[in-house]
Amino acid sequence: MIDATSFDATSNATEDDPQDAVKDVILAQWNTVNAQLRDEIGEAAFQSWIKPMKIRTVSDGVVHVTVPTRFMRDWVVAHYAERIATLWQAEAPEVASIEVSVRSDRTPTNPREGIRRQTPAAGESQGELPGARPGLSAALDPRFVFDNFVVGKPNEFAYAAARRVAEADRVPFNPLFLYGGVGLGKTHLMHAIAWHIRQTDPERTVIYLSAEKFMHRFVQAIRESTTMDFKNQFRSVDVLMIDDVQFIAGKESTQEEFFHTFNALVDQGKQIVISADKSPSDLVGMEERLISRLNCGLVADIHATTYELRLGILQSKAAQIRADVPPKVMEFLAHKITSNVRELEGGLNRVVAHAQLIGRDITIEATQEVLHDLLRANDRRVTIEEIQKQVANHFNIRISDMHSARRARSVARPRQVAMYLAKQLTARSLPEIGRKFGGRDHTTVMHAVRKVEELKSLDPGFAEDIELLRRMLEG
Ligand code: ADP
Ligand code: MG
Repeated sequence: MIDATSFDATSNATEDDPQDAVKDVILAQWNTVNAQLRDEIGEAAFQSWIKPMKIRTVSDGVVHVTVPTRFMRDWVVAHYAERIATLWQAEAPEVASIEVSVRSDRTPTNPREGIRRQTPAAGESQGELPGARPGLSAALDPRFVFDNFVVGKPNEFAYAAARRVAEADRVPFNPLFLYGGVGLGKTHLMHAIAWHIRQTDPERTVIYLSAEKFMHRFVQAIRESTTMDFKNQFRSVDVLMIDDVQFIAGKESTQEEFFHTFNALVDQGKQIVISADKSPSDLVGMEERLISRLNCGLVADIHATTYELRLGILQSKAAQIRADVPPKVMEFLAHKITSNVRELEGGLNRVVAHAQLIGRDITIEATQEVLHDLLRANDRRVTIEEIQKQVANHFNIRISDMHSARRARSVARPRQVAMYLAKQLTARSLPEIGRKFGGRDHTTVMHAVRKVEELKSLDPGFAEDIELLRRMLEG
């Protein structure tokens, strides 16, 4: 039930204010529209987007409603305004459109006043941001800058998005959501953004921390009854970066707090950067309303490395540590260590350290010996899960669609491709593969394999796609 206070009492536009009786009629109409919307979009979306709306005036066929934030306004305009107008027309044919504006009754707090700037004392830990309240931001790794980031096909989009955020005067998209597997450069890019802003605009407060740390701070604030301080601190920064947000999946109250922090910052036009190991929609245990917020800005994924990128990274790292590594050895490493960049880098470091210690040149034989454990781990065959993930990524569908019963071509075809690759790249039997795809029959898998083979022979573009996927999976 919407009460009469839905009409903005702070408005001075008295001549626009419907008279009391009119108000009642309008509110009754609004209630009907609300009830229908709630049925259509579900309780969660209703609570997030429709509930906070207040009717201000109705004049000349235009219903003016207000929402608390700019972010909500944009969302409501994009997703619900037209539907609301249509529903309302059914109640009152004279209603032509809905106009949504931001309520001005909340004075946004000035972030610069929220946190007293502290100049770091000489000798303070490197990486502590000058603008940050001491201890709020985690330290930044001095090596994680844009200049040290090697760009290739798998990460060029994420890189461009990160640069854009770092260089923009105004928030280009909110949030920037970076995701990708372990050791593919998410943290590196986040630190690079922070370093860049710190250098070019030291006035801005940049906070970087892991979701885990965010949670610990929150829990600590609850324990010490300092949650107001906690809220104020986090809601008065210019750029907030939360790394590995998947950590708070299933942690309800932390998510709740994060959700509010997120909204408060977006409303003030502050930049948020988030990373995770999966896309927002694939984050299991994350609240729907938070997922929809996370999806609102730019979602950029970092794909598994290619051989070329790995080679480029090795060359760059070798140059950084001024090591003279023969090209053959670099190629060998780029071929063999395919799991992630962290291991690749670790492998190179070990090989170089070994050579320096024993005072010998770096050779492939020595490399094989020094890295035998790492090489064996990377030797293992690709798994069906990896295939599903990679294929889902490639075709832009959810991993869950690999198991789902949906038969739309847009998901059925990628699923068939994944089954085909599972047959080609693993030693699993047809029934085993079928089971991994939502308990499908072995004949379904057989059919998929034939279908993909047929398409490959008919469509060179498709064949190339499959080849690319195969190479990416094999490393
Ligand atoms: P993630 O956060 O995605 O798990 P990191 O950002 O911690 O991965 O990266 C792991 C290591 O690999 C870091 O040392 C990072 O510098 C390095 N790395 C990852 N991608 C690149 C890249 N494209 N160029 C240079 N170094 C990279
Ligand atoms: Mg990381």
